[in-house]
Amino acid sequence: MFDKILIANRGEIALRILRACKEMGIATVAVHSLVDRNLKHVRLADESVCIGPNPSPQSYLNVPALISAMEITDAVAVHPGYGFLAENADFAEQVQKSGFTFIGPDPDVIRLMGDKVSAIAAMKKAGVPTVPGSDGPLPDNSERCMEIGRSIGYPVIIKAAAGGGGRGMRVVEKEEELVNAIAVTKSEAQAAFGDGTVYMEKFLQNPRHVEIQVMADGQGNAVHLGDRDCSLQRRHQKVLEEAPAPGIPDEVREQVHESCVQACIDIGYRGAGTFEFLYENERFYFIEMNTRIQVEHPVTEMVTGVDLIKEQIRVCAGEKLSLKQEDIVINGHAFECRINAEDPQTFFPSPGKVNNFHMPGGLGVRVDSHLYSGYSVPPNYDSMIAKLITHAEDRETALARMRVALSELVVDGIKTNIPLQEELVRDENFAKGGVNIHYLEKKLGL
Ligand code: ADP
Repeated sequence: MFDKILIANRGEIALRILRACKEMGIATVAVHSLVDRNLKHVRLADESVCIGPNPSPQSYLNVPALISAMEITDAVAVHPGYGFLAENADFAEQVQKSGFTFIGPDPDVIRLMGDKVSAIAAMKKAGVPTVPGSDGPLPDNSERCMEIGRSIGYPVIIKAAAGGGGRGMRVVEKEEELVNAIAVTKSEAQAAFGDGTVYMEKFLQNPRHVEIQVMADGQGNAVHLGDRDCSLQRRHQKVLEEAPAPGIPDEVREQVHESCVQACIDIGYRGAGTFEFLYENERFYFIEMNTRIQVEHPVTEMVTGVDLIKEQIRVCAGEKLSLKQEDIVINGHAFECRINAEDPQTFFPSPGKVNNFHMPGGLGVRVDSHLYSGYSVPPNYDSMIAKLITHAEDRETALARMRVALSELVVDGIKTNIPLQEELVRDENFAKGGVNIHYLEKKLGL
């Protein structure tokens, strides 16, 4: 096992990783920007290193500073968390070349999955259901593109192979708009990602977002840990997640779970990963794979009882997967509300000092947060300040528990989206289960 891990992240996920390391008896190194010197995990880590000024390109994205921090502290591995460098194949490669371990899959696997065209091809090969589409990059030939469009059927969506974060996509309603849409998406993709490769997919009108959690050891062993529904989104940002995804027929669910496990084995996947799907009319359509731990991993931990971060560290240290598929049993239901420092109406970020922070508690209530009374939320980073998670024997009880937990949660001094979450957990349609990805924006009148 690793002697010492450097945590290349901040906020709640850095604290989450720190806790896992401590339980495993692994020494920890926290790295931080100037403004982040008072983060909770920085205070609790065995060692800490300031890696640069506040802007992330000069600190959390500063690869030479991170590698130097590993060298001077004798850390042997780096956990990237999510965001920042977590899916950056060049960083993973640089870490390896410098003689350290990147806690995640091989750089080549990150690269394969980072390019959506190659990812879809690999998934198809493994039997994972994909969206009907162009099966590869669109050719430089308008006639051929129009033929592809006709065979798929409108509406279609043009997507950048290198796209991410909801950027580099354009919906096309009819053939007359196609050629222009391809040209615009191509040039935008070239400018934003340095790669103008685009492909075409059928545009699904009212899908849900359902994703499958996997864990693999890169030695031929892989398991799935069930699914999550993350359909409540605003601008492609998830707001409230749950596990398992409600109302999916068992045989449909099992088939897609198995195909994800097969895909992990096929591509030699190592670590924690998520296969993201759109789900419509009882069918799954793969859209992308995230080759890292995700924000919403706690809902899966609550229903499976598996510590995903500890397992991720173990397999990336070269241990064989200790989990067997038959041992993973989905127990009850869990919800996660993302609490953001933002205006609940305008969604403008609301950084500043937290005068008072009171966490809810009780059976089946979990709070993953780096907040404490007196902490100042800096304006420089993501606005998420806490994740409130509830777990119970069934969906209705877990949702009732979330209503109670939200009513106990106090973040005083800054604006938060708690009022929005209070509204969502009382929404009748959400309570029934299975709302689609447009539901929240429609409700908000966007
Ligand atoms: P990114 O990597 O930028 O997040 P994704 O491929 O995951 O891109 O797509 C982001 C979102 O765009 C999806 O969650 C969904 O809302 C929408 N989307 C993508 N592909 C389709 C499609 N074929 N049909 C309908 N919506 C889609």
